[in-house]
Amino acid sequence: MKLTQEQKDRIEEQLAQFPLFGYGYLPTTEVAFSERVRYICETECPQYGKSWSCPPAVGTVAECEARINGYDEIFVFASLSEVESMDNMSLMLESRKGHEEITRQITKIFQEAGCETLTLSTESCIQCKYCTYPDAPCRCPEVQYPCVESYGIMVTELAEQIGIPYLQECGVITWFSVIAVR
Ligand code: SF4
Repeated sequence: MKLTQEQKDRIEEQLAQFPLFGYGYLPTTEVAFSERVRYICETECPQYGKSWSCPPAVGTVAECEARINGYDEIFVFASLSEVESMDNMSLMLESRKGHEEITRQITKIFQEAGCETLTLSTESCIQCKYCTYPDAPCRCPEVQYPCVESYGIMVTELAEQIGIPYLQECGVITWFSVIAVR
């Protein structure tokens, strides 16, 4: 279902309850997918091959692109977290929990507006203490949001396209999520 401007306006009214740093829409045809991002996942991310929400479980970049292109447009939004130290990875990852909850609630808003959704969010899925990958199916596929980068999407480029500043310094982290809708 392609969202009308009236529906977008109604959704925007509901978004006012969240502490969003910025948001916007982009046609799926304008989303850039890159094998270079996948290479970084594979060579630099400790979560590679450890979660249903990360490569290779999410499929090839071409498969991810085809999946996103099955939707009309994406809704991109960001929120900010403050952390005491940018060098402390566990503090940084802990700070994204609020953003993940916002992502879950905004996904629900689009679904209640009648949209089919495909949500991508930050880092690896944190629903379960231990991911079942690869031994058993995902326990909660309906709330398992693959990482944006896992689809081969460069978040910094996406932020620029939407016009959201990408702050990642002085104790401030910008978390991004993407909801593809149709
Ligand atoms: S919901 Fe659980 S099993 Fe599924 S990807 Fe997330 S952590 Fe893994």
